[in-house]
Amino acid sequence: MELSALQQRIKTLYGSKDSQRGVEGTFLWFTEEVGELAAALREEGHGKLPRKELEREFADVLAWLATLANLVGIDLGQAVMEKYGTNCPGCRKSPCNCALTEKP
Ligand SMILES: [Zn+2]
Repeated sequence: MELSALQQRIKTLYGSKDSQRGVEGTFLWFTEEVGELAAALREEGHGKLPRKELEREFADVLAWLATLANLVGIDLGQAVMEKYGTNCPGCRKSPCNCALTEKP
């Protein structure tokens, strides 16, 4: 599924609720899902979580990110392509040559 299709699907499924909840409320749900992904990664790393469960947590984080993008009118595919479509935005190389301690 392409990012634009994901955003459209999320809009169809949740657009009305998302508008009522607003950006701040939606951002709180997004960060909660990020926390759930962190917990799932930790559990999966210790062999305590089925792979399907980990996949679902990744899907949730991406879905909530798509919701946020919809609320503020950002085209995720375009944004990602502009920033990461060619080389690293930090060092302008591919693969990235930034130091491990730098955030690209
Ligand atoms: Zn880099």
